Amino acid sequence: MGLTLAIGGAGWFFFGPLAAVSMMLLFVLALSTHHLRNIGKLLDWAAEPIGTPVPRALGVWDYAFASINRRARIAYDQRERLVQALSRFREASQAMPDGVVYLSDHFTIEWCNHTAERFLGIDAERDTGHAITNLVRQPDFVNYLRQGAFEDPLLLRSLRQEGLVLTIQVIPFGNDQQMILARDITQLERLETMRRDFVANVSHELKTPLTVVSGFIETLIDGGDDYPLEQRERFLNMAMEQSLRMQRLIDDLLTLSSLQAASVVVNEEEVDVQAMIAGVGREAEALSGGRHQIEVLPGPAAKLLGCSKELHSAFANLASNAVRYTPEGGSIRLIWQLAADGSGCFSVEDTGIGIEPQHLPRLTERFYRVDRGRSRETGGTGLGLAIVKHILTRHQGVLEIASEPGKGSRFTAHLPARRVFLPAQS
Ligand code: ADP
Repeated sequence: MGLTLAIGGAGWFFFGPLAAVSMMLLFVLALSTHHLRNIGKLLDWAAEPIGTPVPRALGVWDYAFASINRRARIAYDQRERLVQALSRFREASQAMPDGVVYLSDHFTIEWCNHTAERFLGIDAERDTGHAITNLVRQPDFVNYLRQGAFEDPLLLRSLRQEGLVLTIQVIPFGNDQQMILARDITQLERLETMRRDFVANVSHELKTPLTVVSGFIETLIDGGDDYPLEQRERFLNMAMEQSLRMQRLIDDLLTLSSLQAASVVVNEEEVDVQAMIAGVGREAEALSGGRHQIEVLPGPAAKLLGCSKELHSAFANLASNAVRYTPEGGSIRLIWQLAADGSGCFSVEDTGIGIEPQHLPRLTERFYRVDRGRSRETGGTGLGLAIVKHILTRHQGVLEIASEPGKGSRFTAHLPARRVFLPAQS
């Protein structure tokens, strides 16, 4: 205003009143154009994407723009930091091994990671904004969310993926928001079931002989004199047989547990396989008592790096099974040979009862028997092949089983080439 009057005064003084008014009008017009142009620039800038620098200008507008620019940059940097923090947070949630779902009010999905998509059968793109209770409709899950008592997690057996067992944990946070953590505990559940079965099996295996032994003792205590000496002796022999059975079971259990306690072989030595197999052959002869034809094919004089006691136990278990599951008159062969790749194979072949194919994958499970009666009759504990498998695994070996019912079986222990040495090399 002051400047306009000054221009008017100067015009009046030099050129007269008309010129003074014209000069004042011209000045006001120029000033308005300047302001309008800068307001236009400001409006154009406001329409640009966030982060676009504020334009430059002259005079007071330059000062105003610089100040807006400074504030806009601070706001932009803060926003960028927030965006980065959010993206890091999502990356971390994405990388979690558990399924993660963020819910807003009414159980609406805000975000979920890939694992949650897989576990719960939801789709991050398609289902965001929808209530999870309409998508995962298992009643247990829906009730758990609705009841809102989240102190204990929910155990959920998936109906979509057979065998998948999850624990669902809900963590409320913020304003009516919740985080769902879905953890795969299939393996843990399987181990727990195995543990329960194992305890039940051991108890059952011990209970039967124990009942027999205590029955005989009771009979003898109550009225031993009523029985002739010969019968009393028979009772005692039967009780002895049952205690030996318990002893074998406990020995096998201890062997298994010591094998499981350490996953690698500590005392490695160079084992003379030919000598070991000859010994196993002699033990099989003793067990057979001449009822079978037993042949030992000792193969190359290769040595095996491993634990002699464990390898002997594995090979002897296979040979004793062959004797026990081969009827009288059958033949058994113990064979040691090297494969083309240098690995060692110890096979036990028999012409025994054989095994139906559906049992083969389960034979190395603890207490799995094809014919419970026959196993017990022949002094089996149901743990022999589990022990063999453990021993071979500790030596990085595998057990291969081929069998034909009524014709016979071949059990082969494969041991890796790096454990096999020919004498010249050792
Ligand atoms: P067991 O003490 O019952 O013999 P194992 O673990 O050694 O237990 O063997 C598991 C089951 O595998 C046996 O009960 C038997 O049914 C079967 N089996 C093992 N070896 C033979 C074999 N050579 N011929 C036929 N069946 C066998």
